[in-house]
Amino acid sequence: MTGARIGTRARLPAGNSKTVQGLTGLRNLGNTCFMNSILQCLSNTRELRDYCLQSQYLRDLNNTSRMHTALMSEFAKLLQLLWTSPPNDAVSPSEFKTQIQRYAPRFVGYNQQDAQEFLRFLLDGLHSEVNRVLVRPRASADNLDHLPDEEKGRQMWRRYQEREDSRIGDLFVGQLKSSLTCSECGYCSTAFDPFWDLSLPIPKKGYGEVTLMDCLRLFTKEDVLDGDEKPTCCRCKARTRCTKKFSIQKFPKILVLHLKRFSEARIRTSKLTTFVNFPLRDLDLREFAAQSCNHAVYNLYAVSNHSGTTMGGHYTAYCRSPVSGEWHTFNDSRVTPMSSSHVRGSDAYLLFYELASPSSRM
Ligand SMILES: [Zn+2]
Repeated sequence: MTGARIGTRARLPAGNSKTVQGLTGLRNLGNTCFMNSILQCLSNTRELRDYCLQSQYLRDLNNTSRMHTALMSEFAKLLQLLWTSPPNDAVSPSEFKTQIQRYAPRFVGYNQQDAQEFLRFLLDGLHSEVNRVLVRPRASADNLDHLPDEEKGRQMWRRYQEREDSRIGDLFVGQLKSSLTCSECGYCSTAFDPFWDLSLPIPKKGYGEVTLMDCLRLFTKEDVLDGDEKPTCCRCKARTRCTKKFSIQKFPKILVLHLKRFSEARIRTSKLTTFVNFPLRDLDLREFAAQSCNHAVYNLYAVSNHSGTTMGGHYTAYCRSPVSGEWHTFNDSRVTPMSSSHVRGSDAYLLFYELASPSSRM
């Protein structure tokens, strides 16, 4: 009887191996844990996963005038493998690695790389292959400085989207506002720039932990530009002492926060192992908004961790399944369940937050 069978299935416990997918490991091809960590974070990005698994990306790729489609194709194939292989299996990302190296030769070879740099290259590469804009219009030279800030931000965003418009960008790109105020005449000039992630400085305290809010407040703190750093005020027509401040004009659906643990990404000389306390739920960013805004609450779903030193280190990922809601540790080919109480740690390097839907907050 059909009804009986459905009844049996309904009684299966949540987390049954038949229903949980996406718990597939990635083989290490020699110092490729940075890549594996990022791939697992992206594989657990619900909308990106659906874009790949439901083959929506094929519609965007199926344009005969495209020059390159191999990176997006291999990325989607890999995500499909990760979500159809049996649990505890491990797949090799070698085909994908070949394509990312073609796109970004910097990742050729088997040297340990920076996961944040890799994420930027990867998202940029995927975006460019599924960009809905095939012929970019000439950049407009019209000055928008006469417009009110909010309108200027909107116009700048429209200009950006006339050139860069993809499903990848729909998820990850936000808009940052920087305001420069002249201390001589009070004139305030604004600039609006798209961002794919935010690099947050870690405040130095004598001891103990800092919070993610401390990092965000330091990032958005008013900064004085003086001495050699003095910018030119367009009203004073001279270099003057100015204050600079960042705020968020447009919040992205997926917010990637990069904790600046390394003195410099390329030539690493030191690493901060400060414990940054971050919330798993209800990260409220309204105080960092450029205008009053009532929808800027995020929930964490993935973390890329770096353990070890600047010279030798290892990357892993903690991800919350978009299907089961359970957290797992992804350590190259090994995938193991974990408690959400262990997600916070001093190895956290990249935090992946998803904008909470307004309805789920009511
Ligand atoms: Zn001035």
